[in-house]
Amino acid sequence: MFDKILIANRGEIAMRVIRACKELGIPTVAVHSTADAEAMHVRFADESVCIGPAAAKDSYLNVPAILAACEITGADAVHPGYGFLSENARFAEILNDHNIDFIGPKAEHIRTMGDKIEAKRTARRLGIPVVPGSEGGVSSDVEAIRIAREIGFPVLVKAAAGGGGRGMKVAKSAEELSSALSTARAEAKAAFGDDAVYLEKYLTKPRHIEIQVLGDGKGNAVHLGERDCSLQRRHQKVWEEGPSPALNAGVRDKIGETVAKAMRELSYLGVGTVEFLFEDGEFYFIEMNTRIQVEHPVTEMITDIDLIFEQIRVAAGATLAMKQSDIEFRGHAIECRINAENPVSFRPSPGKIVHYHPAGGLGVRMDSAVYQGYTIPPFYDSLVGKLIVHGKSRQECLMRLKRALDELVVDGIDTTAPLFRALVREKDIIDGNYHIHWLEHFLAQGGMDD
Ligand code: ADP
Repeated sequence: MFDKILIANRGEIAMRVIRACKELGIPTVAVHSTADAEAMHVRFADESVCIGPAAAKDSYLNVPAILAACEITGADAVHPGYGFLSENARFAEILNDHNIDFIGPKAEHIRTMGDKIEAKRTARRLGIPVVPGSEGGVSSDVEAIRIAREIGFPVLVKAAAGGGGRGMKVAKSAEELSSALSTARAEAKAAFGDDAVYLEKYLTKPRHIEIQVLGDGKGNAVHLGERDCSLQRRHQKVWEEGPSPALNAGVRDKIGETVAKAMRELSYLGVGTVEFLFEDGEFYFIEMNTRIQVEHPVTEMITDIDLIFEQIRVAAGATLAMKQSDIEFRGHAIECRINAENPVSFRPSPGKIVHYHPAGGLGVRMDSAVYQGYTIPPFYDSLVGKLIVHGKSRQECLMRLKRALDELVVDGIDTTAPLFRALVREKDIIDGNYHIHWLEHFLAQGGMDD
């Protein structure tokens, strides 16, 4: 096992990793920017090192400073959390060159899955069903129009290096396609420094269903069921739940086994998520995330498996402790991402939390790194915390969520809590009857205006 783990992240995920390390008896090192000197992860870690000024590029993305922090503190492993350097293959390699373990997949797998064109090619080779579209990148308008006619309009232009829903454009006709291509290319170049784009059939009413996987890098891998993340705004997940209201055990086992088999073939190491769109009973692979995800607690609540603990174990060379038949799914879990944003305009609302009361009680978990008197800095993502609720059934879970949302108090800043208070009262949500465009329609129709 590792002697000391440095956490190259901040906020609730840094706290989450510290908690797992404390249970494992592994000392922790927090790194932080000057803007985060008062942050909770700095207080809870055994040691802390300031690695630079507020801007993420100078601190949480500053590889030499993070390496120096490992040297100074004697950390022999780095947990990258999500975002920042978590899917940076070069970072994993640099750490390994310095005899420091990266708690995550092998660099080659991060690299393959980080390029969405390459990821789709790999998925296809491994027998995972993919969204119909171009085989690789599209270089000319003529080629794009030919492919679009083959797969049928509407089509979606996506960035090969994409992430966070950026660099995506829908085109309903050949005329629209030319401008969609140039806009998507420009956006991708600006956001990722790579203007490669590809085409996919645009699905009109799919659900976003993702499969959680865990592998030990030695050919053993399991799936831990699915999360339904169809409630999105601007392609960003807002509410995640498991199991999906749209799947039954047979369908789950089949797609889960397809994915687990692919991970065994890759000798995949660590946790990962294989994301699909699901429409008319068919799964279509869109991408794989080679890291722990924001919504991982949903899976933890229904499987009773600590994903960070398992991630650390396999990174340290342990063989997978479980077989597929050991994994049981119990009850239902829902996660709401409470952001520091206005619930109607979604404008960011950083600032001081003057009063804070997290929700509690049976089946309620609040993963957060804020406290009363804490000032949310404007430099990073706007997550205040994740409210995760578990119940024996989806109905019990919803009942508990409603109660927990009423209990939660975050005063001094705007949060998206009122959005969730409205959602738990919506018939479609109660019935589990929604797809990836549902939330945008709800908001466009003034669902939050009164
Ligand atoms: P990113 O890496 O930017 O998050 P993804 O490929 O994971 O991009 O897609 C994000 C979201 O965009 C999906 O959850 C879905 O809502 C939407 N999306 C992606 N591909 C398609 C598609 N082919 N048709 C319709 N919606 C899509």
